[in-house]
Amino acid sequence: MKTTKIEWTEATWNPSIGCSKVTAGCKNCYAEVMAKRLQAMGTAGYENGFEFKILPERLYQPMYVKKPTKFFVNSMSDLFHEKMPFEFLDKIFEVIVDTPQHHYQILTKRELILQEYFLERSVPANVWLGVTVEHEQTKHRIDVLRNIDASIRFVSIEPLIGDVGFLNLDEIHWVIVGGESGVCARPMEPQWAINIQQQCTEQKVAFFFKQWGTWGEDGVKRNKKENGCFLSGKEWKEEPIIEEVAG
Ligand code: SF4
Repeated sequence: MKTTKIEWTEATWNPSIGCSKVTAGCKNCYAEVMAKRLQAMGTAGYENGFEFKILPERLYQPMYVKKPTKFFVNSMSDLFHEKMPFEFLDKIFEVIVDTPQHHYQILTKRELILQEYFLERSVPANVWLGVTVEHEQTKHRIDVLRNIDASIRFVSIEPLIGDVGFLNLDEIHWVIVGGESGVCARPMEPQWAINIQQQCTEQKVAFFFKQWGTWGEDGVKRNKKENGCFLSGKEWKEEPIIEEVAG
């Protein structure tokens, strides 16, 4: 469990690690690069690099954190990976229910497994449930998310690698947009991001612009810090309104 540089959360909790690629957004997966680096450094748990693995020894980590914290669950994997046993997922959600002082942000590209898991289970009140969309062909994930009863539903559009066109954001509380990072990063056209921001404003959905990534708003490739996080001259860091979770 770690504090993190991810701008829209406070800490990460990875009760499983490793993954496999599902769509174009996975091409330059940050978790894969990190996993291979950790494997090369001999870090425990990463002996098989990016191969999916559950880590039961990390299951109860949030219970030892007294300070209310926003956790991004599985920054190094996809919680709804095909190899994740539902029995282990049940244990993860038991920990979530037993720690109502925290909020848990869960993001997946595997919307069908997400749907199947919650068919006969409830989403705990302190869970923010999200799907990733990276271009127009993956927008259907939002429709699956919309039909799952969660206190906060969010969409991460990162890396944004193509125009998403019209977005139906009905029942969606939060949209995050970001460009890709890394040497092989694909550029994000400003108009794609502006299109999403305008639709969020029109549909009254909180909008968070995370970063440009490796390619700046001016189309120049440089350090992502230099490219910054201003869109149309403005910093967008809106967050959804959190309602109190009963203990
Ligand atoms: S789903 Fe996420 S963690 Fe898994 S390969 Fe794709 S980008 Fe990486």
